[in-house]
Amino acid sequence: METIKTKPTKTGMYENVLRQYNQAADIMGLHDGIRKILVNTNNEILVNFPVKLDDGSIEVFTGYRVQHNNALGPYKGGLRYHPTVDIDAARALAMWMTWKTAIVGLPYGGGKGGIQIDPSKYSQSELERITRRFTYALGDNIGPDLDIPAPDVNTNARIMAWIADTYSSIKSPSVRQKNMHVVTGKPVGSGGLEGRDRATGFGVVCNIKKWAKSAQKELNGMTFIVQGFGNVGYWASHFLSKEGAKLLAVQDASATIASAEGFDPDDLLKYAAENDGNIKGYEHGSELEDQHFFAIDCDIIIPAALGNQITADNSMQIKAKVIAEGANGPISVDAEKILLRNGIEIIPDILCNSGGVIGSYYEWLQNKRSENWKLDTVLEMIEDKLNDAYDRITEVSKIYNVSSRTAAYIVALKRLELTYKERGVFP
Ligand code: GLU
Repeated sequence: METIKTKPTKTGMYENVLRQYNQAADIMGLHDGIRKILVNTNNEILVNFPVKLDDGSIEVFTGYRVQHNNALGPYKGGLRYHPTVDIDAARALAMWMTWKTAIVGLPYGGGKGGIQIDPSKYSQSELERITRRFTYALGDNIGPDLDIPAPDVNTNARIMAWIADTYSSIKSPSVRQKNMHVVTGKPVGSGGLEGRDRATGFGVVCNIKKWAKSAQKELNGMTFIVQGFGNVGYWASHFLSKEGAKLLAVQDASATIASAEGFDPDDLLKYAAENDGNIKGYEHGSELEDQHFFAIDCDIIIPAALGNQITADNSMQIKAKVIAEGANGPISVDAEKILLRNGIEIIPDILCNSGGVIGSYYEWLQNKRSENWKLDTVLEMIEDKLNDAYDRITEVSKIYNVSSRTAAYIVALKRLELTYKERGVFP
């Protein structure tokens, strides 16, 4: 099989996902035709849309939605607002969503998108107009049974509520209420699910618990560090601290802070909330230079920020026993080789952070059925699905003698391959 060529990109994530895919496809002997289908994206939507800013001027923004594959169900995946969003980043992230939903057995395909923007430069009312106009520009390219966006980097429940409201407002009155599940991750008062806010971070910790159990290790007394203190980083820290592990350091875009006694994630969150979301200046602990972060002596690393943070350049310094990928694509392919050689385990993103999309699935179901579920029920259902996926991946990694990531790909690709083989290709 030919190797798929890629052009270098800003983030390099697209190159990483294709290298991961090709490696797994080679090892499992993925059917040639299906391999060609899955290396491509189904649809790539790019929209340029104008928005009036607070000062009366007009700015034109570029938004993306890449729909990678829908063999298993509607496209599903987040929207991120970040300067690194471009077509290749959206492609990579959409592909990861296809694998992610397949691994945990959800009736979804994969999509991803967003706007190339630094949201901190805009007021809330500008962000609202940008979001609403983006939704309007996407029009019927999204839909509750077609493509269902969700939160991602720099997007939150409030933004999802604006999307749901805009999307249903442009429908005829008789069908407006039927469109609430066009987006997941909404506020609980607007059709959102109890627990969707913590689902990703909670899921990361479910995976860490499984890892500890299989390694016959106690989480109580272990140490960890977290990169990114947004929704995923905070909730993962919260749940892991509850297991008795100590948070030694946190890094976000504003600073790297460390404390030998360990941080209280809830107190740090309170501080960050009062400081535009930044951890810089937190009085407990001291500030470190950014480049020393991954070298910190600890048991667990949770990268929960952006892609390609652990590269061939900094992976040699890592001393942790395990890296739990809260973010999508935080470890480059070359870095992964070094880490595995050094005996460091990796819980791959497409398993590790899939608690978020599992939560989204239950929100979508809840909306479809006009039901309301309790927090405990939701968390239990998420943990169940993750535990099954973890066990399946462990089994496949033993059968093929491959890393967890490659095993996770094989699980996903086998599911997709079976569907294509059963269904055939139209006409
Ligand atoms: N953005 C999240 C992810 O990368 C959630 C996607 C979703 O809930 O659809 O998995």
